[in-house]
Order: sequence, then structure tokens, then C-alpha cells
Amino acid sequence: MRKLEKTGPKKLNILIIASEMEPYAKAGGLADVASSLARALKDRGHDVRVVIPKYSQIATSRLELKEAIQPMGVWMGNTEEWCAAYRLIDNYGIPVYFIDHSLYFQREGLYHNHLMHDYDDNPVRFGFFSRAALQLCKDINFKPDIIHVNDWQSALAAAYLKIWHWNDTILGTTASVLTIHNIAYQGIYSKHHVDYLGLGWHNFTEEKMETFDRINLLKAGIYYADMITTVSPTFAKDIISPHGGFGLAPYLSNRSHHLCGIVNGIDTDVWNPQTDELVPYNYSSSNLRGKSLCKKALQKRFHLNVDHSVPVIGIIGRFVEQKGFHILAQSICGMLDTMNVQFAILGSGEHDLQNFFIDLPSRYSGKAGSFIGFDNERAHLIEAGADFFLMPSLFEPCGLNQLYSQRYGTIPIVRATGGLNDTVENFNEQTGSGSGFKFNDPTPDALYHTVKWALSIYEKKPSQFKAMIKRIMNLDLSWKKSAQQYENVYTRAIQKKQYEEQGYRSYYW
Ligand code: ADP
Repeated sequence: MRKLEKTGPKKLNILIIASEMEPYAKAGGLADVASSLARALKDRGHDVRVVIPKYSQIATSRLELKEAIQPMGVWMGNTEEWCAAYRLIDNYGIPVYFIDHSLYFQREGLYHNHLMHDYDDNPVRFGFFSRAALQLCKDINFKPDIIHVNDWQSALAAAYLKIWHWNDTILGTTASVLTIHNIAYQGIYSKHHVDYLGLGWHNFTEEKMETFDRINLLKAGIYYADMITTVSPTFAKDIISPHGGFGLAPYLSNRSHHLCGIVNGIDTDVWNPQTDELVPYNYSSSNLRGKSLCKKALQKRFHLNVDHSVPVIGIIGRFVEQKGFHILAQSICGMLDTMNVQFAILGSGEHDLQNFFIDLPSRYSGKAGSFIGFDNERAHLIEAGADFFLMPSLFEPCGLNQLYSQRYGTIPIVRATGGLNDTVENFNEQTGSGSGFKFNDPTPDALYHTVKWALSIYEKKPSQFKAMIKRIMNLDLSWKKSAQQYENVYTRAIQKKQYEEQGYRSYYW
């Protein structure tokens, strides 16, 4: 029997497998996490590489892509499929690989078309991507200690690792970590794809990867990954509660010894009001003049009345139920009718919500401004120029915008759920402490009254308000602490894998 290695904080080989990565392809927070976690881990001395699909949205002409493997054969069941892998070294020295398979990734959207209809063959597309990411390691001779897979899109890599690669020289000792960024999206599709995926019908069981006779890709990751993380401690508790797991609570409960919540950090270089090139004026906590000028620029950009005394509330996000936009739509007119406030809204998503927010400025000229679409520059301007940032989410695994807001001295108003609850401390009028305003009930009323409360502090307690701005700008929101926690998780995953290799199949910590 091989002696167990003591895995301390040694240099690890880490492959992050993700379906998005800033600045190449982004649909949500996963893209930010994939790039900024990779950098933080590299700063800690690890050999970190990232692999993503080569989507048509990626502006490859502006990237220095080099061929890594061409052609690359990937076995899907009994069929070998061909693709190519390209590579670049990003500005931080991180090798980023792009899996090129035009049939799968030259599409209008990453996961769905413009009508928000999922591509039916998503299991094929992302099953292939997951397997190709592992094949890449073999072809470039990169022996990862850890593969870190993310959400349903790459969850199958954890399954392939255990089912197909347990005896490889390159991947045989690799351990896997699955991070669940959003459990509402599980990758549930027709079971007809089971053959293509090559995992075997005997694995198509309720315990492993079946949900109501359909294949559930995230569930497979939950079953096979050595360790599972999600993006905040509160969300880690939520998803094992009967209603919070979107049907996966029992399976996560079975793995609760291997589940933990780690709050996302932010890339403090990209999101830095002192150096941000996407905003018209820079500023710091000791000199907020640039923030006032950004507010003016924001008001102009969103066709709001330019008036410094009126508080501006910024909103950015996907117009979906999860983000609480239905609650917002029910209360925003009441706020605009009765409060001295302006809204700058950026987002896209469900058509009814889009139409509602497109119309709002014509009903509240000078008080409400909206832009429908994905626009990074406007997102930075909102973070810098707004006084408040509103996130009324029904549930929120972590949330990034409240963190960006804090960094830019923009006070978050959030519903106390998931990562919002973990990262925002409610304002205390007696002591003046806190880092934002929170409410519990997911109702238009609770939202209305909390906004009213926040505006009253803005108006009546300016010194406390200014102190809060300065305080939140100096919070440590970097990846440092979280990257260290991921390191601990990687270490546990490696140890678990070693125990299993020795036959301790049901070893629990
Ligand atoms: P989620 O991943 O659930 O969409 P997060 O708060 O974790 O939510 O991350 C969303 C990320 O996407 C943030 O960086 C946010 O600024 C960005 N984002 C969302 N919608 C837009 C948009 N319309 N334009 C620009 N950036 C956006």
C-alpha cells in the first residue's frame, strides 16, 4: 500500500474548466470568478491553467492565439471526435486554452438563442467540452493535481475523471472540485444524449445523474466530484434545505461532509476606482471628488436630471425572477412617485421585464433611465456614479455587484439572502456601523420601505453616510482569503482521492 502523502500548501497544478471567462466570454459572474480566482491562485504560487470553449463571440482576431493541439481526438463513448485546442498566455501569465469545435461553439449565444431558448444539444456541446478539457491535459502533458469544474457546463469532467481516467498516467491521481455558482441551472436535458456522452446507462440512475427520466449534468458532478463548493456559506446551508436545493438537496446532503461555502472575491485590479479606465474620473476613499463627477456623467448618460442632491440608485443584472426584478417592477413606480430618487438600470433578459424597463424612462422622464443590453462600460459607470446599488434577489448564491459597489463607495441595498447576507452588514443607526441596507421579506413592500430608510439616512445623516462610503471602500474584498480557502478544499480533495485509491471508498471527514 502506498504511503499517504502529506499535502501541505505545496505548489499545485490546477486546471480550471469553465464555460466562461473574463474578458473572453461572459454571461454572468462565473466569467469574473474564473479569471480572478485563477490570478489569485497563481499569485499564491500554483501552476493554474484555464480551459474554455472557443465561442464565435470571442474576438479571436485581437488575441494572440497559438495552436496547442491540432487536431485533437476526443473519445465520446465509442466514437472519436475531432477538435482543435488553441492557447494564449494572458496578461497575468496564465495559460488559457480554447477548445475549438465549430459545430458546437459557433452559435448565436453561449447557452441559448436570442429568444432565451436553451440549445437542445447542450449536453452534447458541454459533455464534449468537459471530455476535451481532460484530453487536453493528456495531449499537452499537464498533470493536474486538481481539476476545478464549474456548474453544469463542466460538471461532467468530474464524472469522466472517475469513470474513464482512473488509471491514466496523467489523470489517474487527479482530484476534482465542483463549484456550484447557481443551483437553479442544472443542465437537465433529454436522456437521449446518454449514449453520446459515453458514461453508460448503468450510471443513469436517480442517485447519480437522472432527474425525472432526464439527464441532470450538475447532479453527476455532485455525485462524482471529490469536493463540492458553493459561493457563500449561507448558500451552502440554503442548498441542503428542503426548498433551497432546487431538487438537489438530498443529494447534496449525502455529500454534506464534502460541501462548503466560500465567498467570491473580486478582481481588485479590474474593479478599482483609483485606476479604472472605463469610468471618466478616478477617485479614492480619501478624495471622493471623482465620484461626484462620475455621478454627473452617469446622470447624463442615462438621461437623468443632472442634480447632485438627488440620490441615484443603480441596478445591473439579468432580468430574471431570481434577481427580484418582478418585485422591483411592482414597487419602482411607487418609489418614483413618492421619493426624491433616480434610477439607472442596466440589464437584459425576460421580454416582459425588458419592455417594462424600456418604457419606464418615458413615464418618469429625468428620474428613470435604462439601457437594455450587456455593456461593461455602463456597468462600471453605474458602480462609480450611483449612490446606492439595489439587489432585491429572491436568492443569490454570492452576487458580485454588491462587492463591486462597496469597492466604489456605492451603498448596497440588498435582500438578506445567500452571499448578499454574508457580504453586507446591515446599517445600524445607533452606532453608524454597517456596510449597506438589508431586508428579509421578498415583497414589494419590504423593498419599498428599505429604500425609503436608506434614502432617509442619505438625506438626514450625511456624516454617517459619508463614513459608511469610506468604510466600505476600504473593506478587503480581494481573493486573498478565499483563494486560501480554495487551497484548503483542494488539499482535502487530494487527500480524499488518495484515501479512495487505497480502498477506503466511504471515507468521510
Ligand atoms: P449572475 O452570475 O447570477 O448573473 P453575479 O452578480 O454573480 O450574477 O454576476 C453578474 C456579473 O455580470 C457582474 O459582473 C455584473 O456586473 C455583470 N452583468 C450582468 N448584467 C450585465 C449587463 N447587462 N451589462 C454589463 N454587465 C452585466
